[in-house]
Amino acid sequence: MRTVGVDLGGTKCLGVALEAGTVVDECRVPTPVGETALLDVLAEVATAVGGGADVLGVGVGVPGLVDRGGVLRFAPNLPGVVDLAIQAELERRLGAPVQVDNDATCAAWGERQVGAAQGYDDIILVTLGTGIGGGIVAGGALLRGANGFSGEIGHMVVDPDGPECPCGQRGCWERFASGGGLGRLAQRAATEGRAGHVLALAGGDPALVRGEHVTAAAGEGDVEAHAVLAELGWWLALGLANLANVFDPRAFVLAGGLIEAGELLLSPVRTAFAGLLTGASHRPGIAILPATLGEHAGAIGAACLFDIQREIRPG
Ligand SMILES: [Zn+2]
Repeated sequence: MRTVGVDLGGTKCLGVALEAGTVVDECRVPTPVGETALLDVLAEVATAVGGGADVLGVGVGVPGLVDRGGVLRFAPNLPGVVDLAIQAELERRLGAPVQVDNDATCAAWGERQVGAAQGYDDIILVTLGTGIGGGIVAGGALLRGANGFSGEIGHMVVDPDGPECPCGQRGCWERFASGGGLGRLAQRAATEGRAGHVLALAGGDPALVRGEHVTAAAGEGDVEAHAVLAELGWWLALGLANLANVFDPRAFVLAGGLIEAGELLLSPVRTAFAGLLTGASHRPGIAILPATLGEHAGAIGAACLFDIQREIRPG
């Protein structure tokens, strides 16, 4: 039977239909502005990929705080959207069960069910984009918290004197360890004369240095660019080590645009993590894996919210 998953992003809305863990249809449209238009698009995309077949349920992943009643309480990347009762409204329009969850929480479930973390019961997904999102699977089930707001790992404070964060705190983890964080680390290195080739790729202005200039230079073997990636790797590993102390996961799954750098990033993260993990030599290793579902992770995971009883098949 078909399940439908829709991932509402800041710029696009991606829907998939899933049968036995395989994507059989997909659809994407630009994300509109305004609450009514958003609900219209969610219903439209879910209907388009549902294909008129019997649909077991529709999962929806959204960027923000979603309560256990499927109300989107706070979504800084969706202007004008506050306290939007997505689940109730879509169930009324679609006539099918609807479950709404945070997008990174959905992605964690997708990677666990059909992606990089199949067979693992305790994982944490870390999405590295402009900021950091997170989803936690503990004991084979999603960990949602009292309200449904768990997994906001990007706002762990790792330096109280650090740069300001849009959330209102200073020194949140995502200020250092995300794609945006890499840009900031690289700009500082360029300003301090520690990233000559990176600076040249950015046209000579430190303010124009971006993360992609670092990964491009590192790919050419530039030693200074590798040093910046090692710095990023340390900050990333610091947060992972903090999370490991709290949740004791078997694996971390790293997702988001930064992961396209592959081993250029993963290798320094693993090295730093081994040095920061409490009691590292007295515990089984914790895998640090790249995500495999790419931009589909949120939509696939949302569809899998209705698929939780399915046996996990090897491979
Ligand atoms: Zn923050």
